[in-house]
Amino acid sequence: MLFVYGSREKQAVLGNTEPRFCPSCQQKASFTAWVDYRYFHLWHLLCFIYRRRYFTRCNHCRAVAPVERDELRGDFSSDNIPIRHRAGWIILVFILGSIVVMTSVNSFVKKTRYRSLAEAPVAGDIYLADLAKVPGSGFNPTDSPDYKEGDKNHGALLLLQIGDDYLLLATTLKAFPYPSQVDYLLRHNPEYDRVNMVLLKKTEVVEMFEAGIIWEVRRPPPSETAELSGEETGEDNLPEAASQPDPAQP
Ligand SMILES: [Zn+2]
Repeated sequence: MLFVYGSREKQAVLGNTEPRFCPSCQQKASFTAWVDYRYFHLWHLLCFIYRRRYFTRCNHCRAVAPVERDELRGDFSSDNIPIRHRAGWIILVFILGSIVVMTSVNSFVKKTRYRSLAEAPVAGDIYLADLAKVPGSGFNPTDSPDYKEGDKNHGALLLLQIGDDYLLLATTLKAFPYPSQVDYLLRHNPEYDRVNMVLLKKTEVVEMFEAGIIWEVRRPPPSETAELSGEETGEDNLPEAASQPDPAQP
């Protein structure tokens, strides 16, 4: 991202004061008051004022003198600085607020989708999970006495077969210390342990999702799923494909 930033000095006229005594010309005169302000800007959009200095000029003798803001309190309630030069905080709060709202809406939408996938499993589904908390995973401290919780235990489960109440799953052979590394693992065609498989109740999977043990459910496109699990899924999930004319046939 290209940062365009800098600082600027500007002036804003507050107006004319009530007549008061001028020490320079020894007359009673009104004064013009203004503020010199400096602001920092980011993309000329987020502006933050960091210095204000006030001055008055006698309208009779033109003598200029610095003043404190308090001395002008009775004459001017505001500094008359354009809102675009002092609204940086408001805009920043608005931007950050929007990001927070969008992020939470996005995570709510994702979570709802993952839950619906977990509730209606399809062979080929992949569950990203803390394998230490999955019974029978081989990464679980109860099953593997050598294994310590908090070790490399974030991996994935591949759903191989669906029974009436149970799901048969295979864990990835590798697992990593951090959940974010599982995404990397899955992008590199991981191997699954098809010898020591995991049997879980359908309801257990949903409970694990609710408990955060499974934090994401992925469903590969149907073509990949069919290749992966072969005949088990052939019967019931591709009626549309079967009825379509095959372009390879004469
Ligand atoms: Zn004067």
